[in-house]
Amino acid sequence: MDPRTVKLHDCEFSTYIFEEEIIARVNMLAEQINKEYEHKQPLFLAVLNGSFMFTADLMKRISIPCEISFIRLASYQDMQSTGKVKEILGLSEDIHSRHVVVLEDIVDTGHTVHGLLQQLKERKPASVEVATLLLKPDCLQHPLDVKYVARSIPNDFVVGYGLDYNGLGRNLRDIYKIIS
Ligand code: 5GP
Ligand code: MG
Ligand code: MG
Repeated sequence: MDPRTVKLHDCEFSTYIFEEEIIARVNMLAEQINKEYEHKQPLFLAVLNGSFMFTADLMKRISIPCEISFIRLASYQDMQSTGKVKEILGLSEDIHSRHVVVLEDIVDTGHTVHGLLQQLKERKPASVEVATLLLKPDCLQHPLDVKYVARSIPNDFVVGYGLDYNGLGRNLRDIYKIIS
């Protein structure tokens, strides 16, 4: 397929992973999850905003009984530490003894998912795993076990298919990477 470029704010991006490949990989993840959670009635927790397109396409292929809910992570400055701590917003389900699958757009340093998993585990789920559309393995700073990864990518900044650059690009059907 011919490459396409798009300008978002001050940056230029070029097509990188086409919709066809994304959908094929997302469908493979769904098949794996269907098998591994067949009798577990999982609760999917999609982290907004970035995971909305991944979540929609994945869930269309999940054929086992399950629940789906949406959360947001609010950053706030912890007075006790220098790092940013993320607070979970919108989690109304009781996840105690549930099999939870977190749906993320991208794992970069792993800081976000690490913090989220710590907070979810305090609520004593039966299990908690992460399914991410994209993983940047070279950037990981935590010993994270991300069980379901649709696609690993090098350390490039990407947009599209839910991911944004300062608010723009989420609607793009392909994934683009920054070129300048
Ligand atoms: P982490 O905490 O793993 O370093 O970063 C996770 C968050 O950083 C993602 O949820 C996403 O919002 C943002 N992020 C990291 N890499 C990229 C990227 O290549 N493109 C976009 N659009 N966001 C990214
Ligand atoms: Mg995210
Ligand atoms: Mg963003």
